[in-house]
Amino acid sequence: MATEKQAALVATPPPDPDSPTPTIFDKIINKEIPSTVVYEDDKVLAFRDITPQAPTHILIIPKVKDGLTGPSKAEERHVETLGHLLYTAKLVAKQEGLDDGFRIVINDGPKGCQSVYHIHVHLLGGRQMNWPPG
Ligand code: ADP
Repeated sequence: MATEKQAALVATPPPDPDSPTPTIFDKIINKEIPSTVVYEDDKVLAFRDITPQAPTHILIIPKVKDGLTGPSKAEERHVETLGHLLYTAKLVAKQEGLDDGFRIVINDGPKGCQSVYHIHVHLLGGRQMNWPPG
C-alpha cells in the first residue's frame, strides 16, 4: 500500500538499536494510547493493526524491546523472545479461527517497509494471500 510504503521510507531507523528510543508501540504497551488487545502475557502484547491489510491483521510485539528493533538487530539474548513472538502468533491465529492458513510477516529496515522500529510480527488472515508479496 502506497501510504505504508511512504511511512516506511520516511521512518528513521534509530542509530543505536540499544538506545531506548521510544516508538508508538511503547505508548500502546503503557496504555497511553488505546489499542484493541487480543492477547497478552507477561512478555508480549498482541493488538489489532490500525490499518488492516486483511480481515484479520494483528501485531505481536515484545513488551520490552531490549534493542530488538527488527530481526537484523537480533542477538543471542533475543532468541527466546523471537520464539515467543512466533509461538504467540500461532496461539492468536487459533484464537482468531484462522484454521485454513495465515501469513506471518516481519518487516525490517527501509527496503523491508518497516516504519515502527520496535520488532513486531504481522499476523494476517481471513483472505487468500498472494505470492510474491509486493
Ligand atoms: P508498515 O507501516 O510499512 O506496515 P511496519 O512493519 O513497521 O511497517 O508496521 C507498522 C504497523 O503499525 C503498520 O501496519 C501500522 O498500521 C501499525 N500501526 C501504527 N500505529 C498503530 C496504532 N496506533 N495502533 C495499531 N497499529 C498501528
